[in-house]
Amino acid sequence: MNIKKILRAVLCFFLVLIFPAQGFAADNYTEYDYVPVLMYHHIVGINVKAGDGTVISESQLEEQIKTLLGAGYKFISLYDLYNLKVNRDWNNKKMNNKEKYVCLTFDDGYESNYEYLYPLLKKYGIKADVSVITSRCYDSYVPNEGENPKMDWSTLNEMAQSGLVQVYNHSLDHEKFNVNHGWEFIQKALKAEDQLNWNLTVKRKIHVFTYPNGFTTPWMQKQLKKYGFDMQLTTESKVVCGTTPLYGVPRITVSSGEDGQQLIKEIKKAAARTFN
Ligand SMILES: [Zn+2]
Repeated sequence: MNIKKILRAVLCFFLVLIFPAQGFAADNYTEYDYVPVLMYHHIVGINVKAGDGTVISESQLEEQIKTLLGAGYKFISLYDLYNLKVNRDWNNKKMNNKEKYVCLTFDDGYESNYEYLYPLLKKYGIKADVSVITSRCYDSYVPNEGENPKMDWSTLNEMAQSGLVQVYNHSLDHEKFNVNHGWEFIQKALKAEDQLNWNLTVKRKIHVFTYPNGFTTPWMQKQLKKYGFDMQLTTESKVVCGTTPLYGVPRITVSSGEDGQQLIKEIKKAAARTFN
């Protein structure tokens, strides 16, 4: 045992003595104390092997949904998560939820979400949230070579009207945040929000911004919060716990080829990173 470990042990001992009611055991949490937010992208109708990035197959997605349901998870929307978080004690890391919750989020607005995800949401009566690149939702948008088609406003509205999907802001053109162009980034995020407000027929109860490629800084998060974004999604691989700020919601990337049990293991690893 090195000196650092000894000092940490001594510190822990005294903290337990000082704060006995709260306890100090880092691993003293359950699946009811956090909410994993899963991040997906494109879905395909054929089988996909592990190692193909974030592209997943329709059957893989369904198997994951069934496994999570079987494990007792209840699928909630980001708006539900927002409500769980706003009315709570922000000092308590453990959420102590009534059920085991999980959120599904899909980035980039691929048409495959409509083709494969939407029928599954209806089949299982579960919710998911989609973050779109707003300039690509217009019928006039011409995809780049090799780019998978994106959903247009009428498709997004059809899904939103079902009540199973909410549509949020994934920027105007998917340009990554760059510290040297902070104000420009804000202007574009606000323009994208205007496009969502203008084109979506279902009024959203909260405003969510999903960072392209997860790039952000505390300064940017503070700014977007000030400009009215209630929730901001990142790609930090952790779970949402009681002390997680709504302007920095971490998400777990779901990889190609991963089955439901592997996904549950990934959730548990992300929880360990959050609590330990
Ligand atoms: Zn993206």
